[in-house]
Amino acid sequence: MAITDFERYPLTFGPSPVHELKRLSDHLGGAQVWAKREDVNSGLAFGGNKTRKLEYIVPDILASGADTLVSIGGYQSNHTRQVAAVAAHLGLKSRLVQERWVDWDDPVNDKVGNIELSRIMGADVHLDSAGFDIGIRSSWENAIAEVEAAGGKPYPIPAGASEHKFGALGFVNWAYEVAEQEKELGVFFDTILVCTVTGSTHAGMIAGFAALEAAGGPKRQVIGIDASATLDKTRDQVKRIANNAGELIGLGREITEADVDIRPGWEGPAYGIPDESTVNAIRTTAELEGVILDPVYEGKSMAGLLDLVGQGTVAKDSTVLYAHLGGQLALNAYSSIF
Ligand code: PLP
Repeated sequence: MAITDFERYPLTFGPSPVHELKRLSDHLGGAQVWAKREDVNSGLAFGGNKTRKLEYIVPDILASGADTLVSIGGYQSNHTRQVAAVAAHLGLKSRLVQERWVDWDDPVNDKVGNIELSRIMGADVHLDSAGFDIGIRSSWENAIAEVEAAGGKPYPIPAGASEHKFGALGFVNWAYEVAEQEKELGVFFDTILVCTVTGSTHAGMIAGFAALEAAGGPKRQVIGIDASATLDKTRDQVKRIANNAGELIGLGREITEADVDIRPGWEGPAYGIPDESTVNAIRTTAELEGVILDPVYEGKSMAGLLDLVGQGTVAKDSTVLYAHLGGQLALNAYSSIF
């Protein structure tokens, strides 16, 4: 099946905007850097990468007859906020498990930003003291069982919508969208740079660009910047999800370790905890471009970009596409770092 054969329920405005980061490129004195903006991709509660993933999951939700979306993330999860928005949009309920994934003692961490919006949208939010893990959690399985026991019909969506059979299709389609936008703009992005944690964003891109290449398209590198600080788990998960996506779209070859390029070095001391490079990347992008990044994800991937381009590891004549995946609402819980 081709990507166009999968049913897609529109939640986004259409193709997300692509634009040049001119002053940032000049500052780096090398590669041309562009951004593709998932942070402004939808009118549903500020959108983000999960909204795009959910477009390929909603048809399955509707077909299941479920009345409650059950999902999980950290206190400041962007993902659960987007699930709450999609539930509201579809007229469904949402039950969210919000775990203490980040050892971050901001006094409003469990009150503002993403979690505040989920509450405003009517989600049933339950805090849980468990720490960070990108795998399947018992707290989430318990929440599913509780919805059932109360007579509801749950639809389970795992963390980041990653370990879902259709979780990567949104970003397979993103690759095709990029190829179309390249034609319109008359530009070719030889390097794609993306933040990687639960994996289906990066995995979808790998499968999508591999399919384009198999159809005669140009070769390019897709670089993931790890923000999980559990690199081996994330690498395994990306490879597994990319292979699953490859099978769904009839890629006809295996995704191997060589396809999965995830680089460590900018993850900070732990998931959700910024270091100096994260804060510097946030400030630099804001001061030069007026583009806002968060300290959990995009600040880390931009820190990777600044170093890779600045040091010439990504060649000076490259044209780089930075995937901005959203996440700014978490800044509300990080005011102390600024
Ligand atoms: N950037 C933002 C803003 C996110 O919310 C996430 C979600 O985890 C990511 C990047 C990483 O995406 P993924 O979990 O698909 O690897």
